[in-house]
Amino acid sequence: MQSVAGDPREGRIARLRAGLLSAGLDALLISSRANTRYLTGFSGSSSLLVVSQAATVLITDFRYRAQGRVEAGGVADLEIEGTSLWSRLWTVLPRLAGVSSVGFESQHMLHVDAQRVVESGARWQWRPTANLVESLRQQKDAGELECIKAAVAIAELALERTVPEIAAGRTELEVAARLEMWLRELGSEAHPFETIIASGERSALPHAHASRRELQDGDLIIVDFGAVSGGYCSDITRTFVLGRANAAQREAYDIVREANATASAAVWAGMRGRDADAIARDYIERHGLGAEFGHSLGHGIGLEVHEAPRLAKTIDAPLMVGAVVTIEPGVYRDGWGGIRIEDDVWIGPDGPVVLTAFPRQLMELV
Ligand code: ZN
Ligand code: ZN
Repeated sequence: MQSVAGDPREGRIARLRAGLLSAGLDALLISSRANTRYLTGFSGSSSLLVVSQAATVLITDFRYRAQGRVEAGGVADLEIEGTSLWSRLWTVLPRLAGVSSVGFESQHMLHVDAQRVVESGARWQWRPTANLVESLRQQKDAGELECIKAAVAIAELALERTVPEIAAGRTELEVAARLEMWLRELGSEAHPFETIIASGERSALPHAHASRRELQDGDLIIVDFGAVSGGYCSDITRTFVLGRANAAQREAYDIVREANATASAAVWAGMRGRDADAIARDYIERHGLGAEFGHSLGHGIGLEVHEAPRLAKTIDAPLMVGAVVTIEPGVYRDGWGGIRIEDDVWIGPDGPVVLTAFPRQLMELV
């Protein structure tokens, strides 16, 4: 096992080890792909990772033999298993000195695997854990922030290229296809979630999948999508009007835009998730549309498109410096349509920095 000076993964594993000590655990079994990638760099889809105070062992299968070595070889001992990762775990664990209490990730482990753990006998005390690695992932380091910025840049350029192709008679699916083509062409490694193109009355559905509906003059069109760069996601929404906007569209749009701008400028480290949410919610309520803003204000982005922290009514946890969050107020009126504007914001030590630069004024596609 070689170590690289200044390797951010070493610091992450060290912080996790400190967390294990305070939780009274000798080791943690990690099955979440994003957590595994965060700690070791391994991006394969099949692995078990064990971190104790003295060891970091990554068990994966034959398909990832070379990839595992390249991606994780610097920080983890690799075990390549031909049949079952779990059988290999039962040979790896007894070799780890001083390990008796072992945590597992209760939010990521399948029930069938939890049963294996229970049936492994009394040799280890297994304890369910939550958020031990996720809480570390909230604070992005400089390299992670660069990846997110690159994912934002790809997404914005792809949207810029797609906008001129949005026209009456095209279906939502066709617009999604053009946008996804540009995302790939510009270097996005994956689509972090299913692209949302929701037009006309369908824009009132906050998470509508693109459909065969043809765009018509006067439609509100919500475009919600993202790119992935270096494993990190961006998540952006813009709402357009096909043709000229009417007064009601304009009025609602201005309220959402102002709510977005106000919240984006005010999300500081230390603020509770519920207070961040309230900034946009209060603004929208004061303007009479409170009942039409039915989802939370935003969420963290990183290796996953939805990760900690959450900016929502129920969240008491304070926002951490270094988090990257979305600010995405929206209003949705059945039978009329919807409007959402979503930006990605880095909560820096000196305050919020909006990473997205795509114009936020109402764009009429004529
Ligand atoms: Zn989104
Ligand atoms: Zn989002």
